[in-house]
Amino acid sequence: MKPADIKKVKIKDEFWSRKQALVKKEVIPYQWEILNDRIPEAEASYCMHNFKAAGLLNEKMRKKGDAFEAPKFTYRGFAVFPEKREDAKEDEFYGFVFQDSDFYKWIEAVGYALMTGPDPVLEETADRAIDIVCSAQLPNGYLDTYYIINGMDKSFSDLRDHHELYCLGHLIEGAVAYYQATGKEKLLNTAERYADYVASLFGTGEGKINGYPGHEIAEMALFALYDLTGEEKYKDLAEYFIDERGKTPNYFEKEHPDMKGKPDYYHQAHMPVREQTEAVGHAVRAVYLYSGMADMARLTKDAALLNACEKLFDSIVDSKMYITGGIGATHLGESFSHPFDLPNDTAYSETCAAIGLVFFAERMLRIKADSKYADIMELALFNTVLSGMALDGKSFFYVNPLEVIPENCKKDERKTHVKPIRQKWFGCACCPPNIARLITSLGRYIYTEDENTLYTHLYVGSDTVKNVNGKEVTVSMESGFPNNGNVRITVDGAKDSSFRLALRIPGWTIGKYRLNVTGASEKEEKDGYVYIGNFTEDAVIDISFDMIPRLIAADEKVAEDNFKVCVARGPIVYCMEEVDNGDKLRQIRIDKNGSFTEEICNEFGYDVVTIKTDAKRIIPAASEVSPFGALYNEFASFEEKEISLRLIPYYLWANRGENEMSVYINI
Ligand SMILES: [Zn+2]
Repeated sequence: MKPADIKKVKIKDEFWSRKQALVKKEVIPYQWEILNDRIPEAEASYCMHNFKAAGLLNEKMRKKGDAFEAPKFTYRGFAVFPEKREDAKEDEFYGFVFQDSDFYKWIEAVGYALMTGPDPVLEETADRAIDIVCSAQLPNGYLDTYYIINGMDKSFSDLRDHHELYCLGHLIEGAVAYYQATGKEKLLNTAERYADYVASLFGTGEGKINGYPGHEIAEMALFALYDLTGEEKYKDLAEYFIDERGKTPNYFEKEHPDMKGKPDYYHQAHMPVREQTEAVGHAVRAVYLYSGMADMARLTKDAALLNACEKLFDSIVDSKMYITGGIGATHLGESFSHPFDLPNDTAYSETCAAIGLVFFAERMLRIKADSKYADIMELALFNTVLSGMALDGKSFFYVNPLEVIPENCKKDERKTHVKPIRQKWFGCACCPPNIARLITSLGRYIYTEDENTLYTHLYVGSDTVKNVNGKEVTVSMESGFPNNGNVRITVDGAKDSSFRLALRIPGWTIGKYRLNVTGASEKEEKDGYVYIGNFTEDAVIDISFDMIPRLIAADEKVAEDNFKVCVARGPIVYCMEEVDNGDKLRQIRIDKNGSFTEEICNEFGYDVVTIKTDAKRIIPAASEVSPFGALYNEFASFEEKEISLRLIPYYLWANRGENEMSVYINI
């Protein structure tokens, strides 16, 4: 299976069109200002600065020819920032070692945004930016401003930490998207030349670098480049990176002898990938690797690799994922923790990791239409991914906790990673451009297709066209998601063809749905999809799912959530906020038999379903008897106050100022 052609999927959904328009009108232009350090109150990026500095050096090199003396590498740190913005020197590198990737993610989002409709001003800006980026490429194809500026003699000497292959991956993904959108080859040629150069250096032969990326992404990017160009060399390089990872001795020990003998979970290099069954280490790295592995399993039909992908997916979903679709429970190494360790107030749950989980799930769907993958894709998308961006598209979460008491985050060193409000930008700004590229490319995640069947994974209102044996079948979907579960699909042109439409039955419906079909006679249920076929005329399909607020409890092994529940409705997970319910949210106990009242409210700028339910606020009654001091009293009783608890979608939290928030509620 493959994703439906993104250029043929026209999103017309009210909910998602708004998000896409926001990214196109606000986020992308704002990020362009950021990449050029023109937002005084946000952390400077130095991303375009670095490309210009590398371009200047290139020019000097060209002018002086053999007389050019290349800078010798001196280590300046993983992240280098000038004291003050105005102190930045035009020929020095600043930012994190992977700063180039911010542009690549931005141009990828631009590419997808241009697919949703033309924007000549944006395209012109992008073209000029591409000129700057391409001018930084060395004649041999190398392109990473960190080493070009700081000294090429050490390039590819620290694959573990220095992200050259990570930047290559993002360059490829950006270049592919921009080429698909515009047909312009300049950035694609640059990406191919860098990939060719890397392919010439890496491998098992004599004198080759026998390593692989410290931060994965090149794998899936190279498969995408192979998909686009049909060039086997890119597939070979991706396969090489995947096959080498985790072999003994660990390649990274060569670069970092202090790692000797220690299992390298952090980089998923602790064992060969086909033997890996538990998701471990840095969560973004992990799901990027698993996505590449799934691409390879699909292309090569490697059963052992597919088995590993399935086990890793289940390992995440069965024991390492928050109810919000967030992953990576600990800030220590931005990593997966041990199974069932899912703390709410120190959660890491990086936005990028949830995005990576969407990538992984979507790739599993290309192998097999099983709704369990689409369920997780939807969960991560509607909750943690959307939580990553403010309603106005101008501030972002890197970390997505499930409970916040603002004062604690500010004063407790164990929670400094948790921010109670979204930030304008981050020096390490992986997340904001990642959200931008995912939301603009949403058209890729709605459907997959094979020869005859169009599989609907996400109910996002859209029009698309599928070719079935030379016949064009038009599929038009109207969806009430996420506010209601009513979906109407019209299918035109499928009469007497082998076309089949598969519709996902979301896991949260527990198998219940209502279906009414006119114009097709065949219905069959399999792996969480209902298949509709044998079209006898232009068809209308109504499928609806009840979106009823439900209480969800975590497995008892999640100690953090014992005696707690959360509320979900359809794909949306809800939370309580101080602004609606007062502070000290931990005093609130939900009534497990209480009724839910749904309200459509407009305080977030569009129709959002909020929920009210019965609860109590439990306050310890003051006792006169204290063993010592004022902190403790002998227990007397609890005062119980009936309250009406208001819940809003989790992804909307912290859009009304800094305040307490909790997803889980005592029961
Ligand atoms: Zn990130």
